[in-house]
Amino acid sequence: MNDISRERSAKLFEKAQQLFPGGVNSPVRAFKSVYGTPLFIERGDGCYLWDADGNKFIDYCCSWGPLILGHNHPAVRQRVEETLVKGMSFGAPTALENELAELILNNNKKIEKIRFVSSGTEAVMSALRLARGYTKRDKIIKFDGCYHGHSDSMLVKAGSGLVTFGETSSAGVPASFADETIVVSLNDKLAIEEAFRQFPGQIAAIIIEGVPANNGLLLQDREYIHFLRNITEENGSLLIFDEVITGFRLGFEGAAGYYDVNPDIITYGKIIGGGMPVGAYGASREIMSNISPDGPVYQAGTLSGNPVAMAAGIGQLSELLGRGFYDQLNSKAAKFVEDIRDYISEKGYKLRILSVGSIFWFAFADHDIKKAEEIEPSSMESFKAFHRELLNRGVYLGPSGYEVGFISAAHTPEVLENTKSIIFDSLDAIQPI
Ligand SMILES: *Cc1c(COP(=O)(O)O)cnc(C)c1O
Repeated sequence: MNDISRERSAKLFEKAQQLFPGGVNSPVRAFKSVYGTPLFIERGDGCYLWDADGNKFIDYCCSWGPLILGHNHPAVRQRVEETLVKGMSFGAPTALENELAELILNNNKKIEKIRFVSSGTEAVMSALRLARGYTKRDKIIKFDGCYHGHSDSMLVKAGSGLVTFGETSSAGVPASFADETIVVSLNDKLAIEEAFRQFPGQIAAIIIEGVPANNGLLLQDREYIHFLRNITEENGSLLIFDEVITGFRLGFEGAAGYYDVNPDIITYGKIIGGGMPVGAYGASREIMSNISPDGPVYQAGTLSGNPVAMAAGIGQLSELLGRGFYDQLNSKAAKFVEDIRDYISEKGYKLRILSVGSIFWFAFADHDIKKAEEIEPSSMESFKAFHRELLNRGVYLGPSGYEVGFISAAHTPEVLENTKSIIFDSLDAIQPI
């Protein structure tokens, strides 16, 4: 099969490379792990994307998760348009902030107060500072295979050994910062127990993604999540759920609702802003009283609570509260995944499709995967070939085999049927055995 035309995208990318490092404003967009130059997107509508060459795709990246209603949803657009004409930023409170906060707090019993910021990274960075300020401890436990944005103390990777200080995973992060982050494997109780033994009274918090979904989809046992809740409580540490992906995705109460667990601090991003730059963190009234100007933990933002962004969030979250929204989305996704799973096993292909709610991930492996180290780097070659076949047939997945896919409310059963046959054809073309 011939590759789709990317003439205009290639020209735009050539120009972009003179303007931005690697030609992009966020690294994964550069298509380094898949074939061809990045597609420059011209517009999106519903579950579809159009690129600069006029190619049309069914989109399963959905802006990396925020677009749970699909592109250009009328309810979101209408709220944004109404707000836009009144001015785009004031640096003073607006009723829209109250409206979005009430919408969330009235329907999500996992937090009592919230603070809006402008990205997931900022939400996590602030949550970590809050945990440290509240507990008066410095160390944070993070998991190998979880991504929490690009703040310094989270850009660490595991060293060797059960419990290790992180090694920086980016140039420019001082080793002394990484020393405050302990990195352990997912789904491993011993490592957590050992960390609390080695650093008694020093661990401010454990941070984990609601469901780890940034390095493949690493589904954890429910019981393990409750173990983390218990051991943090026993040791006077906090449990931070980074729900930047899972928040408002697995349900309105996110992974905390899904696992029936009560984390101390929860971070949000992606879906909360309806496609605009919004992040947030929330906790009990007591913990949140530590944030400035009420308390000693400083955190601020020129564009925090931006009215246009709040309007987009209100537009989107209001739709999610509609009756049966999640049941419908999740059952549609479950059928999609089930049918693909059947096809894979019928053909005996060496891959798995893992999923939770409307999140899915193709793992080119025939073993269980719950930890980052269980993903074979060589399996990414199969993904690369698969990605090319899908693009050529009009299906857009994020350009890396470590990234998950998202199904939105705009993906109709007919579109999902169509996608399945494209997936089957693509698998038949690459024959992963
Ligand atoms: C995307 C993501 C972040 C970072 O959010 P940005 O808005 O990209 O800064 C943090 N944590 C998780 C779990 C994410 O998926």
